[in-house]
Amino acid sequence: MNSTFSNHDKANFGLAQKSSQRLAKVAILLLISVFFNRSQAQENRYVFEKGMMGSPFKLVFYAPNDSIANVAAQNAFARIEKLNEILSDYRDGSEINQVSAKSGSGEWISVSDDLYNILAISQDISKKTNGAFDATLGPVVQMWRHATRKGIFPTEIEIKEAMQKTGYSKLKLDPQGKKVFLTQKGMRLDIGGLGKGFAAEEAVKVLKNYGIKSIMMDAGGKIVLTSPPPGTKGWNITISNGSDSLKTMALSNVALATSGPTYRYMEYNGIRYSHIVDPATGIGLLFHVRTTVISPDGTVADALATAFSVAGIEKSKKMLRQFPGSQVWLVEKKDDQVADWNTLEKPQ
Ligand code: ADP
Ligand code: MG
Repeated sequence: MNSTFSNHDKANFGLAQKSSQRLAKVAILLLISVFFNRSQAQENRYVFEKGMMGSPFKLVFYAPNDSIANVAAQNAFARIEKLNEILSDYRDGSEINQVSAKSGSGEWISVSDDLYNILAISQDISKKTNGAFDATLGPVVQMWRHATRKGIFPTEIEIKEAMQKTGYSKLKLDPQGKKVFLTQKGMRLDIGGLGKGFAAEEAVKVLKNYGIKSIMMDAGGKIVLTSPPPGTKGWNITISNGSDSLKTMALSNVALATSGPTYRYMEYNGIRYSHIVDPATGIGLLFHVRTTVISPDGTVADALATAFSVAGIEKSKKMLRQFPGSQVWLVEKKDDQVADWNTLEKPQ
């Protein structure tokens, strides 16, 4: 009967079984090696650096090969360059300066999605920080830049006049029409307090479009992180209090920003004034303060680092409640007194 195997058949069947097992093993090994090669290919680490928006920008990510890495990095930097053309208050022709030039004209001005979006985030943060963050400080910031260049301290009248042209409630937004209205002549928008965080977020979006998953975008101290580098628990980020204390954390899928008087300040009669201005007085912060904020979003982290620097520890404690998922490390030095407030989670 054909339904039973002869001994010979059985032996053959046994052989056939063995060789198919061997084949399966080879196939599995092949699969593993293909997978391994792939994941190895994805583990190439790429670093790109470029001076942008007046600061050093650094991009680190993992990609399968050089051509994807190069084109992705180029496009990410091109996106930032495009944003700079829109948002820079140093360029006469920038969209933001053109809008400022129409302040007080009674006109609602149509703006690009980028400019609208950044102003919308800015206004939201201004409300939640009681104006500690204010993107309408342009006239005051310009006055201080001029004073720093000339080494002449502005007069009380100059400060008062510049202050009269500021105030975030004088900036109106129309979400439907994506329009902006600056109610008073002489107003000037300045998004320097959150522009780098916004740029970092946008650059990361470009890289993600290329299928890149593990990214660290450092836009002059405003950092956006995505998935951890392959085989690790996170990006090792060292945060400093500005002097003696350091903290290293393994972070991923989060943003962080540091604000502090590193090199941008004005010194007059032996007193240092930070380039961060207190919107209540129109004067650069007088005490040394270093603020690091960790937030789910880079634009928010950047804005909060500026706002909490202005607000100081006590007021910031209350404000932080408005920003779920955000953590702060704020160090204030006033007359040799050091105050330290740290809500950063312990290293994971
Ligand atoms: P960095 O220079 O590291 O980007 P910030 O993020 O704190 O520091 O931004 C400082 C810039 O923000 C200033 O140069 C100015 O253009 C603007 N600015 C200053 N004070 C304020 C403020 N209170 N709110 C919003 N923007 C501010
Ligand atoms: Mg900032």
